[in-house]
Amino acid sequence: MRAVTWQGKRKISVETVPDPTIVEPTDAIIKVTTTNICGSDLHLYETLGAFMNPGDILGHEPIGIVEEIGSDITDLEVGDRVVIPFQISCGNCFMCNSSLYTQCETTQVRDQGTGAALFGFSELYGSVPGGQAEYLRVPQAQFTHIKVPEGPDDSRFVYLSDVLPTAWQSVEYAAVPPGGSVTILGLGPIGDMAARIAQHKGFRVIGIDRVPERLARLEKRGVETLNLDDYGDKIGDAVRALTDGRGTDSVIDAVGMEAHGSPIAKLAQQFIGLLPDAIAAPAMRTAGLDRLGALYSAIDIVRRGGTISVIGVYGGKIDPLPLMTLFDKQIQLRMGQANVKKWVNDIIPLLTDDDPLGVDTFATHQLPLEQAPHAYEIFQKKQDGAVKIQLKPHL
Ligand code: NAD
Ligand code: ZN
Ligand code: ZN
Repeated sequence: MRAVTWQGKRKISVETVPDPTIVEPTDAIIKVTTTNICGSDLHLYETLGAFMNPGDILGHEPIGIVEEIGSDITDLEVGDRVVIPFQISCGNCFMCNSSLYTQCETTQVRDQGTGAALFGFSELYGSVPGGQAEYLRVPQAQFTHIKVPEGPDDSRFVYLSDVLPTAWQSVEYAAVPPGGSVTILGLGPIGDMAARIAQHKGFRVIGIDRVPERLARLEKRGVETLNLDDYGDKIGDAVRALTDGRGTDSVIDAVGMEAHGSPIAKLAQQFIGLLPDAIAAPAMRTAGLDRLGALYSAIDIVRRGGTISVIGVYGGKIDPLPLMTLFDKQIQLRMGQANVKKWVNDIIPLLTDDDPLGVDTFATHQLPLEQAPHAYEIFQKKQDGAVKIQLKPHL
């Protein structure tokens, strides 16, 4: 089959690789019909190369048709239409029974000290081949699937794999009081969808990014927006000016570790990245580089006693936590990978022909799988109006 493979920093290629087969009786094989590129893939593309091996298959946002099932799978049939959550979870361990599916104790690689195995995250999360491919092996398939009805285009359901539950969790964790306000930092696919969900729940939403097309997409839906480039590190003042000098009740950080900073800061970050872990984080703080992260903006923007929901991914040596300010402002901080299946029943009623969240038109690009290298490039460089890109393996 054909699959999108990581080959080096900012280098991916579509290769012919062996078809996946059933290995465990709890496996299923899915014929992938649509598979998205995510901001998380960009971390692997750009900064987390140390955890990747050439040839690793990327991708964790697929929808498709069940092609084959293992002997223990009873609630799936060949031909079923399924979305596959980005995390692999058994549905039956201590963590899964608490709906903490990203912490599944059956699939986590314990000596790595990380949560549940994820599709397409290489050695970082269990070395499971990803879903940007013609076919995907799904381990723990008895639980790791969401059945969806025939009929509507893949766009209606494919975001259940990640974008919708992730954005939903970010809004839940933001604990916005009824009729309250939330600032969303980063208006990529996750922040964009979080803004739509927060609006749907009746909150006042202020969206911040620096990509004009991304700001415009949400302005059209009635979100107040601020362009980061107009305010720089005065962005907190800009939000306070809109909120009686207080800041918003909650802030969602939908940026993560690849936050925009000045070119000099970027260079310095790369240099600090070469240092051993124990020295790198304090060095970041001493040099003031932590202040460039979106989390620093979130801490500045949130009102006293408010809540910050971190949904952007932080990892490696970028550690932007100013603990004294967090303590002094009595900030509640919540974060983590999204527990996909926890939110699905809340979201499905919104996936109707009325389409209140605009999922049917959410993708800006639908491209053949073979064009993945181009797709990654325009998504990372924010060119050609790219916000959400779907790849089609069987065009
Ligand atoms: P993306 O890279 O398309 O979006 C990030 C956006 O942040 C971009 O539009 C960028 O211009 C903007 N930005 C950069 N620096 C900024 C700053 N300082 N202030 C405000 N905006 C800034 O990615 P995405 O697909 O929307 O994903 C966003 C984040 O969410 C990524 O870190 C991704 O890994 C993470 N994520 C987390 C989960 C989870 O389960 N927690 C799931 C999916 C994605
Ligand atoms: Zn994703
Ligand atoms: Zn489990």
